Amino acid sequence: MISVKCPHCHVGLKVDEGKLPPGVTSFKCPKCKGLIPISMLSEKEGDGFSSSDNTIVIQPVKTTTGKLTVIADVHTEEQMFPLREGIFIVGRKSSHPSRATICIQTSDRSMSREHIRIEVKKDVRGGYKHYLSDNNSKNHTLYNCNFLGNEEVVILNNNDEIIIGHTVLRFNE
Ligand SMILES: [Zn+2]
Repeated sequence: MISVKCPHCHVGLKVDEGKLPPGVTSFKCPKCKGLIPISMLSEKEGDGFSSSDNTIVIQPVKTTTGKLTVIADVHTEEQMFPLREGIFIVGRKSSHPSRATICIQTSDRSMSREHIRIEVKKDVRGGYKHYLSDNNSKNHTLYNCNFLGNEEVVILNNNDEIIIGHTVLRFNE
């Protein structure tokens, strides 16, 4: 749900971007009955909407799940793991039994075998949110250059960087 202003009568309106039909270019202001032009964005970063030339720009709800890319370095080859709805435990692949569901092939011994937890959940608007937390790892987790605290949960955004051990992971929507 986003807040917009009618460009004609300036009344404040609430728009549920999840309920707009695809390809819609305008809707009628319930107060002045003027047509409010809208434009759906597909690839824009930002805070949901902005207003320019009297056109209300709306970022559609993301109905796809993200992916995790392991950045290549001396210990690790590049690897890519698609995410889907559910809970993932991410860590170093080893021959020991582990609860990890995403196992990274690496010689980085500072990465725990069950290092981080990512939960992918549908939100009320029908889009997906990706929740990251440290899984009680020995060397902790850096999220965009900050250590995650115990019990801290963050919502992942496109191009976020996660460092586990010496290995860099990138999240993309
Ligand atoms: Zn109006």
